[in-house]
Amino acid sequence: MNKIWLSSPHMGGAEQEFVQKAFETNWIAPLGPNVNGFEQDLESYLKDESKVACLASGTSALHIALILAGVKLHDEVICQSMTFSASANPIKYLGANPVFIDSEEDTWNMCPIALEESIKDRILKGNKPKAIIVVHLYGMPAKMDEISTIANKFQITLIEDAAEALGSTYKGKKCGTFGDYGILSFNGNKIITTSGGGALVCKNDVDKNKTIFLATQARDNAPHYQHSEIGYNYRMSNVLAGIGRGQMEVLDKHIQFRRGNNRFYKNLFKNCSGIKVFEEPSSSYYSNHWLSCILIDKEKTGFTTEDIRLQLDSDNIESRPLWKPMHLQPVFKDCDYYGESVSEDLFNNGICLPSGSNLTENDFERIATSIKKFL
Ligand SMILES: *Cc1c(COP(=O)(O)O)cnc(C)c1O
Repeated sequence: MNKIWLSSPHMGGAEQEFVQKAFETNWIAPLGPNVNGFEQDLESYLKDESKVACLASGTSALHIALILAGVKLHDEVICQSMTFSASANPIKYLGANPVFIDSEEDTWNMCPIALEESIKDRILKGNKPKAIIVVHLYGMPAKMDEISTIANKFQITLIEDAAEALGSTYKGKKCGTFGDYGILSFNGNKIITTSGGGALVCKNDVDKNKTIFLATQARDNAPHYQHSEIGYNYRMSNVLAGIGRGQMEVLDKHIQFRRGNNRFYKNLFKNCSGIKVFEEPSSSYYSNHWLSCILIDKEKTGFTTEDIRLQLDSDNIESRPLWKPMHLQPVFKDCDYYGESVSEDLFNNGICLPSGSNLTENDFERIATSIKKFL
């Protein structure tokens, strides 16, 4: 029996043609028509006059977003605690310090109340945060009205980590377009992939051009190599951008499929008291359901997430606990944290289930059988 993965790459068909074009025209370098084409595709997809610069990864996009936000040594940056470590690591690349914020229960994302409390407290302590990193976890949009209002009120740069949320919307507006900067990821497990890649989303050509400048070693305008700033080698390659262009043709199909996965799990668990499938809190939220997740009430069910994980694993089906909050990670143990124990409880009681857009009827049957056997 093949392994059923949590989320694996799913090619649509047109990718190879774009890659082939790159070979035929010898545009193998990290610039060229596929990069420009992929950026244009993303700009028209995201709308709201978004500008997009394609980069080597979502992590590098966050690094550059923080540079554009002016983050420097010993600055503080507020970051959602419940997330993948890549949301927080770039803060450290700049010698700045993350301040972590708890989640709220509706979206599992940054709690606006804890966010405001933290900002007031940091200002009192004489160190006003330079930026806020909010994440749309598993494709679920965060409470962007509240969070944008707070960022505006205190005049703090807002960065949206939309690595998992391409195609998700909040009140009809695409995730990644709310903040001053947004980032996307095209890593192998994301809703579309270039095998590895990412993008920075911004509001104007000045920021876009500055991003491309920094991502291509910060070369000044001169015939020789002239540098007045530290640069990075963060641009996306033209070959990989070809995969991205092909993937854009199937993005909407992938979203519909993953939303179908969520309905499959809702149906599978509909009679299980003590198991809750993660879903949108209201019609303002539209999730791409990158990963479908469940919360288990140990008291009611008599089993834990680890029991389910081991059962699925014995049937060669991958599942994984929810992200372990950053304030509980050894590497960030000295960082400040605001909130209660929402993210910790989610981590202890939640698990991600197979959610790929390439699951077959047979895969769904195997997942259902494995879980029913267990229940
Ligand atoms: C995947 C991911 C990233 C990092 O993207 P890469 O392209 O892998 O560098 C950042 N934040 C979140 C929430 C992610 O899931």
